[in-house]
Amino acid sequence: MSRLPVVAVVGAPNVGKSSLINRILRRRDAVVSDQPGTTRDRSYNRADWAGAEFDLVDTGGMVPRAKVGLESLVTLQARVAVEEADVILHLTDARLGPTEADAAIARELRRSPAKVVLAVNKLDNPADDTERHGFHSLGEGEPHAVSAIHGLGVGDLLDAVVALLPETPAEEDSDLPRLAIVGRPNVGKSTLLNRLLGAERAVVSEVAGTTTDAVAGEVEFETAGGRERYLLLDTAGVSKTARKASGVPYYSSLRTSGAIRRSDVSLLLVDAVEGVVAGDLRVAREIQESGRACGVLVNKRDLVSPDRLREVAEGVAARLTDLKPHSLPISALTGAGVEDVLPFASRVRAAYRLRVPTHEIAEFVNALVDRNAPPRGVKIRYATQTGTTPPRFTLFANRPDDLPDNYIRYVENALRERYDLWGVAVGVKARSSR
Ligand code: GDP
Repeated sequence: MSRLPVVAVVGAPNVGKSSLINRILRRRDAVVSDQPGTTRDRSYNRADWAGAEFDLVDTGGMVPRAKVGLESLVTLQARVAVEEADVILHLTDARLGPTEADAAIARELRRSPAKVVLAVNKLDNPADDTERHGFHSLGEGEPHAVSAIHGLGVGDLLDAVVALLPETPAEEDSDLPRLAIVGRPNVGKSTLLNRLLGAERAVVSEVAGTTTDAVAGEVEFETAGGRERYLLLDTAGVSKTARKASGVPYYSSLRTSGAIRRSDVSLLLVDAVEGVVAGDLRVAREIQESGRACGVLVNKRDLVSPDRLREVAEGVAARLTDLKPHSLPISALTGAGVEDVLPFASRVRAAYRLRVPTHEIAEFVNALVDRNAPPRGVKIRYATQTGTTPPRFTLFANRPDDLPDNYIRYVENALRERYDLWGVAVGVKARSSR
């Protein structure tokens, strides 16, 4: 599937990354602090400028809580940029620099295939151009003067960024559908990846988060419909040093966001022993907010009773009511149930990509209405599928605003049951039939 081009904002701490991003997104409510430890739920933001759409990625949250060497900080940022970005916006601070940190980042970015645009922030007086010139020494081309706080120069900067975006949305390096394996640290992602890939591609140890490499392997399997192939995306693959250096889960969460967005389906691993915790729900919410689909794998079934497994599965269903994912109990360690993982993912993907002939939906909803008519004299005249990935449906009614939510829910649930839409957000909307 195609994705939007990605623009990553990279820079030393406190140069004003958040202010610039908020300025670009024209948001005032968002977090503007560049303080270490400031966390944000959304690391990706859809932005547009001059008719071009892109995902704006904030790397600001990666500032380590603990004091660490400059190199590790730079490596982290550059890595994210290298992996994700089409264009990197390197932001610097006119009042401080160019600093050694700026230079180190510039050196690192030179190795990246992404195009780099250099911006010098806090130039609040556009008439004074002297400070900007000093930044030529970074070797990143023409420094663009901006004042994120006052909004000066931001338009010109965006012109420069947009000019470098790929013509069409960036092509993935393979046409294979992608499958993301996501979850909190230590739920067993690496162990499962190794099983699925049938090779020791990732190093697994007893310590949380010790996988050394980003793994993207290819898998092939048989289904009733024939052979299917997937590219598996790994979100556990953060280097030991990087994780230690960051001290925050931000980097891995950025990876998770990227993997979720590059895949139709994410497999959310939860730990059968620990059950569903807040961290699991955060990832689930991210899957849903990105408009993607989700299957739940309840891992470590070898450690719990069947009763406990049932309890966890029910807990998942009760909490993820928007996606209503099914869950599959597995043991990544012993391999039990693992042969069902890919067929399971394939079913979720099919649901996500569902397309039903128009007359079929019309007949199905007609039958629903016959069985249980909407209240208050609302008449549903026609129903049709109006979108896919995930599937969306529209009910055309004489007075759509009077159709109660619980009726919409009734139609949604019936569609979900009928077409096995487990793990996908089913959109049902009422529109005027006039
Ligand atoms: P990740 O951080 O999500 O990649 O988790 P890992 O794959 O590194 O696994 C964390 C720990 O849980 C390791 O000690 C694994 O051996 C263990 N583990 C993973 N899956 C299972 C399982 O199904 N059963 C048991 N008993 N342990 C598991």
